[in-house]
Amino acid sequence: MSSRKCKYDADAFCFICGQFIKVRDVKYELKTSHFLCEAYEAYFDCPVRNQDKPWAPHVACSYCKRCLEGWYRGEKRSMKFAIPRIWREPKDHITDCYFCMVNPSKRRRGKNAKPIEYPDLESSSAPIAHDLTRPVPEPPKKLSQKSSSSFSSCTSNSDKEFLPTPEQPKHYLITSEDFNDLIRDLNLPKNKAELLGSRLKQWNLLDDVKITDQRTRHEMFTTFFTKENGLCFCNDIKGMFEAIGIPCVPSEWRLFIDSSTKSLKAVLLHNGNKLPSLPIAHSVHLKENYESVKILLESVKYREYNWELIGDFKMVGFLMGLQGGYTKYPCYLCLWDSRADSKHYIQRSWPVRTELCVGKQNVKFEPIVEAEKVLMPPLHIKLGLMKQFVKKLDETSEAFGYLKKNFPKLSEAKVKAGVFVGPQIRQIFADEKFPTLLNRTQKASWNSFKAVVSGFLGNNKAENYEKLVEDMLTNFKAMGCRMSLKVHMLHAHLDKFKKNMGAYSEEQGERFHQDIMNFEQRYQGQYNENMMGDYIWGLLRESSYEHKRKSKSVHF
Ligand SMILES: [Zn+2]
Ligand SMILES: [Zn+2]
Ligand SMILES: [Zn+2]
Repeated sequence: MSSRKCKYDADAFCFICGQFIKVRDVKYELKTSHFLCEAYEAYFDCPVRNQDKPWAPHVACSYCKRCLEGWYRGEKRSMKFAIPRIWREPKDHITDCYFCMVNPSKRRRGKNAKPIEYPDLESSSAPIAHDLTRPVPEPPKKLSQKSSSSFSSCTSNSDKEFLPTPEQPKHYLITSEDFNDLIRDLNLPKNKAELLGSRLKQWNLLDDVKITDQRTRHEMFTTFFTKENGLCFCNDIKGMFEAIGIPCVPSEWRLFIDSSTKSLKAVLLHNGNKLPSLPIAHSVHLKENYESVKILLESVKYREYNWELIGDFKMVGFLMGLQGGYTKYPCYLCLWDSRADSKHYIQRSWPVRTELCVGKQNVKFEPIVEAEKVLMPPLHIKLGLMKQFVKKLDETSEAFGYLKKNFPKLSEAKVKAGVFVGPQIRQIFADEKFPTLLNRTQKASWNSFKAVVSGFLGNNKAENYEKLVEDMLTNFKAMGCRMSLKVHMLHAHLDKFKKNMGAYSEEQGERFHQDIMNFEQRYQGQYNENMMGDYIWGLLRESSYEHKRKSKSVHF
């Protein structure tokens, strides 16, 4: 063969598969890749040959290296072929020279680009795929001492004069499952996910990850959502559960409905709170009223699932068709007279509401759900108790001043009205100074309130929970606290509370609210199919890789 140079250098191609190695991609010198050569010989049952010849490549691509070495280590990997590309000396540059005939240049990039053609020549026979007669070989049972040590000895070698040519450090290559999970754990929006992907790719840390997939990641779940008249809702909840990969068992979930002047939303909360909360409806347009709640429940086909429902007592009022505002009979279970102050704390049982009759006893509409489907909202009750307690503190007292000072985010009016939210209550409960500022009656109320929260409204139901509640009510009465609807619930309907209030609380719904706030900002408050799809996508996990530092988020 004439000595003119080939169009391409032999080392622009992989010795093992023969594919062109892009200029910016890593290639591995066979001379120094002992482990790879061992794996090659074990897999193909022939040694790496012709490394002293100029007409054979002297390098391997990262794909071949990864597959062969992985297989050799016993991982579930294999090559695509049983016989690798075999190199012989070419006869001429025109008809028999791989390095002159393969044309990898000037290719269009992208999906429709024509693949590079790799010929089968006398001087370079193409790899032969695995088939029945050429199965994937069994990896060696145990690596010989020699090979495993030669693979990891680079750094442990104490003789600095004689450092073996270092092989490429052994990286774990990030799979697309790993990559997606990382994006989820970091909570990255699409553009940042693509940026991270492109960096990792440039550093050759990715294993076949398609970064542009991030752009369409929401599509898996968008079809399960519909946006109509300002309401974005899940149109096929069973189907969505299946797509997530969990069975749709309505008794394992409760539906949290929350309304405010800004929005109306419905979220499925897992009973026991082991799985993430699933948003199923959201509207910023629907008014905070009976009709809206009815439309929402019909949209998500509530009747097909009949979940238990949880929300504050205003929501319960909508669900039961009760008249809003401060009415005479605000309890959905009985005819407790909220205005008969003289009977409060004294009369415990009131006539039970057997049938909700439209037009009577503050029933304004046909109830949307059955009363037994409604769960007691422990957080809401906790906040209500706090409110009654703070209202009875003297505004000029040290204790009141202390609250005002320590919760500067709450306006004075809010402190005065006793409006606290969950985390703030937890903070006051943990505070050691606050109780010392209370007088004896107040302190007794405070301590019994705390006992009820930890022994009844939280994850544990104390054996003596009835006594804890009774003590608190006695103390609240002594302090002159008003009996509100929430206090009435503890006074008259203890039997309607679940054993483990924590597992059935609406507190998870509040937490969900914080999680989704991120997304609201990302999508400029536009609840639509894409945002919901993206949110649900973020709840999945694909990889089974055991991470040293786990993410705190709950996921499927
Ligand atoms: Zn040539
Ligand atoms: Zn290769
Ligand atoms: Zn009642």
